[in-house]
Amino acid sequence: MKVFKFGGASVKNAEGVKNVAKILQSYKDEQLVLIISAMGKMTNALEKVVDAYYNKTGEAASLFEDVKRFHYGIIQELFEGNNEIFDLINDTFVEVEWVLEDEPEESYDYIYDQIVSIGEFTSTRIVSAYLNTQNLPTTWLDVRDVILTDNSYREAKVNWQATEQQAQKRVPDMLKKGFVLTQGFIGGTSENFTTTLGREGSDFTAAIFSYCLNAESMSVWKDVPGILTANPKLFKNVSKIDRLSYREAIEMTYYGAKVIHPKTIKPLQNKNIPLYVKSFIEPAGAGTLISDETDSHYPPIIVVETNQVLLHISTRNFSFVAEENLSRIFAVLAKHKLKVNMMQNTAISFSVCLSNRDERIEAFINDLKDDFKIIKDDNLELITVRHYLSEILEKLKAGKLILLEASLGGTVQIVVKDVPQIERV
Ligand code: ASP
Ligand code: MG
Repeated sequence: MKVFKFGGASVKNAEGVKNVAKILQSYKDEQLVLIISAMGKMTNALEKVVDAYYNKTGEAASLFEDVKRFHYGIIQELFEGNNEIFDLINDTFVEVEWVLEDEPEESYDYIYDQIVSIGEFTSTRIVSAYLNTQNLPTTWLDVRDVILTDNSYREAKVNWQATEQQAQKRVPDMLKKGFVLTQGFIGGTSENFTTTLGREGSDFTAAIFSYCLNAESMSVWKDVPGILTANPKLFKNVSKIDRLSYREAIEMTYYGAKVIHPKTIKPLQNKNIPLYVKSFIEPAGAGTLISDETDSHYPPIIVVETNQVLLHISTRNFSFVAEENLSRIFAVLAKHKLKVNMMQNTAISFSVCLSNRDERIEAFINDLKDDFKIIKDDNLELITVRHYLSEILEKLKAGKLILLEASLGGTVQIVVKDVPQIERV
């Protein structure tokens, strides 16, 4: 049994869905569990619906019309008018419209999960119905019956034991009839409420299924040929890495490489399940294999995180930033769910680089401002280079102001600001 995950970019239009079906024709005889994300940018579009609804801007219904129109456009291209998919999708949308007609009463995070999850419910209905028209028998599975979580909406924690039980109870029988297709990113509570696992969580869903069903391998199908040494949208001459250890993959995602969700690797590593990152554009390519192998010589790997904030925190009474002050600062960081991307300290000051979450950072500063002086720099980039070579580092630094730099082992991190190039007039 293998697990395949297809992300939003692979099913962003009717062509994409047809392409997925074409890829799957070569796996007809395999036992496959398919995890599918929301189509294209639908999760972002649904987030806007939630915002408008919660903040009562009056635009929720029309924003939701855009979401409906997008999906109707795709199913009109894929199906004959009498296919039951039209009714299924209609019913899903009507349920959301009922919600949107009432005043928002529940918490933002709860509402978010109930509405945003529609993206995955719709995409999986569409892809599953389409595969069935292509001679690829597929059973649609409601993932809320398998992935059981607590009720921390928007970042639900998986109950692994219950999930493993459900997966083993339900999925093997379904696999006897063909592919099993289900939603990424979604879970359910024991009271049958819908939860989500955090943005981009579909990779994690695939890892959960792989773990619980002891998959032979897991594959993530993407719009890149595999894991690359840098983001090709930002750098020239990037190359594909053919093989990576679990450890290197975890390190990369920790530093912000967006190619797979950070939580994906650990469940796979626990059971030594190989992970392939492959291209849905060139499905015959070998992709990248992430496995148990020992680390070999890796090329320099560059990860860039934009929209970073640097906080310079110093004590007002000139006490050292040592155990007590640090533990207080970290407790407040944790309280506001701020993730530290890089840090450094001197005797009386501590600098920390965070991804910009305006409200959370303001709340953090507020909590500490009586005892600490805090200066904020924003609009920064955090560049991490693993296995660095000094030439590469020099190039990356050119024309930038370096606000913080640290290196450990073969990894260098720099926080930089663009400086306008001064020129003589
Ligand atoms: N659709 C969700 C998102 O865009 C989950 C995923 O794509 O992995 O965040
Ligand atoms: Mg996505």
